[in-house]
Amino acid sequence: MKQDRRTFLKASVGGIVGLSAFPLLAASAPAVTLGDRIRVMPGLPGNVVVLKGADGLVLVDSGSAEHAPALMKSLAGERVRTLINTHYHADQTGGNALFGKAGAEIRAHAITKQWLAADYWSPSQDRWIKAPPKEAVPTVSFRDHGAMTSGSEHIDYGYLLEAHTRGDAYVYFRDSNVLAVGDVASPLRDPVHDWFAGGWIGGRVDAMDELLKLANADTRIVPAYGAVMTRAQLQAERDLMSKLFDKTSQLTAKGHSAKDMLDAGALKDVDRTFQDPYRFLYDVAKGLQAHYTNFAGNVV
Ligand SMILES: [Zn+2]
Repeated sequence: MKQDRRTFLKASVGGIVGLSAFPLLAASAPAVTLGDRIRVMPGLPGNVVVLKGADGLVLVDSGSAEHAPALMKSLAGERVRTLINTHYHADQTGGNALFGKAGAEIRAHAITKQWLAADYWSPSQDRWIKAPPKEAVPTVSFRDHGAMTSGSEHIDYGYLLEAHTRGDAYVYFRDSNVLAVGDVASPLRDPVHDWFAGGWIGGRVDAMDELLKLANADTRIVPAYGAVMTRAQLQAERDLMSKLFDKTSQLTAKGHSAKDMLDAGALKDVDRTFQDPYRFLYDVAKGLQAHYTNFAGNVV
């Protein structure tokens, strides 16, 4: 899967040619091409990955309901054969209904399918979220991993246990060496732990270790939000989260709340600026409390 510099340059040139063939969204952020058949569409509001296969398109995530019509328009009538969701959040699955109704097969982890198939209570929004139309619900689900091909591209996807939700998945385009990781990597926004859905910081570190095993130095890693990452950047984010796991799990084991952690300087001495430090720590603390027996058994 390794690319030498010459192959990479060739791929980059192919990317520029590809760019003109793919109409851009009205949004200011342009699509990014990765090789000759994959592009990343940003601003939907997050990233959507589009693979141009011989038998139609493969999408990773479908954007929000608000942005999905613009996404569909940008595909210029090309059929979406398969859509793979990285998790259930509305900014990744809001376009499912639109593409599902147009005939796309939707794949996701079994728990993501469950979240999408029924109404659920959102504590962060303090309201019930209605289930989407049945066409938005994945028809192919998996517990551990799965695979498919599109033209000559081999695509693997698999479960990332309890990282950001309890139904996170990666999608690895093996031949293009592009790895879509959803919100399990978060270089732009504060990392979010949807503790109500089973995500927690310990799961995030483990999931990032899984991703690092899949990637090599040339892998282009696509997070849900933000620029395409290298393996080294993913490693740096993983190490930071691991350091924070050590700090916050020890404080939780001692009975400290998120406010106590903030006051104790839990986010000091880490090379990252948090937009909302208390909100980040609140979700970390709730996740740690929910998984207390996974880390605090011999600490107290
Ligand atoms: Zn998310």
